[in-house]
Amino acid sequence: MLSDLQKLGRLIEKEGYLKEIIQWKNIAEINHCGQNHPIMAFVLGSKNPEHPVLFLTGGIHGLERIGAQLAWSLLKTTIDRLIWDRSLRELFKNIRLVVVPMINPVGYYNFTRSNGQGVDLMRNSPVRAIDKAPFLLGGHRFSNKLPWYQGQQGILEKETSALIDLFQEQTVKSRCVISLDFHSGFGMRDRLWFPFSYTKTPFGDLPEIHALAHLLEQTHPYHIYQIEPQSKAYLLNGDIWDHLFLQFKSENKTATFLPLTLEMGSWTWVRKNPLQLFSRQGVFNPMKEHRVKRTYRRHHLLFDFLLKAVNSHEIWSDLDPASRSKHEQLAMDRWY
Ligand SMILES: [Zn+2]
Repeated sequence: MLSDLQKLGRLIEKEGYLKEIIQWKNIAEINHCGQNHPIMAFVLGSKNPEHPVLFLTGGIHGLERIGAQLAWSLLKTTIDRLIWDRSLRELFKNIRLVVVPMINPVGYYNFTRSNGQGVDLMRNSPVRAIDKAPFLLGGHRFSNKLPWYQGQQGILEKETSALIDLFQEQTVKSRCVISLDFHSGFGMRDRLWFPFSYTKTPFGDLPEIHALAHLLEQTHPYHIYQIEPQSKAYLLNGDIWDHLFLQFKSENKTATFLPLTLEMGSWTWVRKNPLQLFSRQGVFNPMKEHRVKRTYRRHHLLFDFLLKAVNSHEIWSDLDPASRSKHEQLAMDRWY
């Protein structure tokens, strides 16, 4: 994966036009067992800090490798298209796309959920659950030998800090931000989760997520996603997206931020190929090549929809008070 990402970096350096509109950098270097693992970030399109942003992340859980691969695949397609597609170049004049395909490179290489310190990066932020989170799974501080370890109190892992800093740098003045974080786990369906994880209380941009979901359902009535609050599945301590949402809103009260998680249902891969159950990797990833390719294809429609949705964000994010309260009521009836 790292070599695939570095190849993209070289392609950008070589093509004059790409170099103008894409920046890439290592936002951190993680040293583990004498080896350096860079975290690469790619920023495409508008440099205007107020413009809307789509922020993609993969591989927070290293073992869920398909998430990192999917982020890479979407990034690669976008870069390849920017070489020839005039309409896409126009689109990127008004929006910014930020992609961090592999936030946990040590976990990716070692086939572990956690980072090299045994910390689950989805449970490492300072946010504490105020409603009851499940024992262990909801995050704990007992030992880094157990899964779902949050890390020591008050200490952010290097990967977490790098992500927080990049997010802040790229979105702080933006009018509208959607993030999409790729995960895979149990379940038959592909789920799109929105906040919160630390409480069952609805989050501040509930009317906007309802308006966006409505737009998706109207535009693509046969889409495959089950859209719901994360808190319907289980609650968490230290969710990074809860933290980023609360921080964003404290600085940018009138702007919209929808942090989405795509939880790819892995049971379908296991059902079609039960032998996967005997491999650690197989529980979280498609193993057959055609299924990996199908996973890449499967989410392009969503990616394309989100690019267009941030570009035309006024339609669903600048709601007048009457339609805002209508969407809020519909969202409460549907999800709570
Ligand atoms: Zn995950």
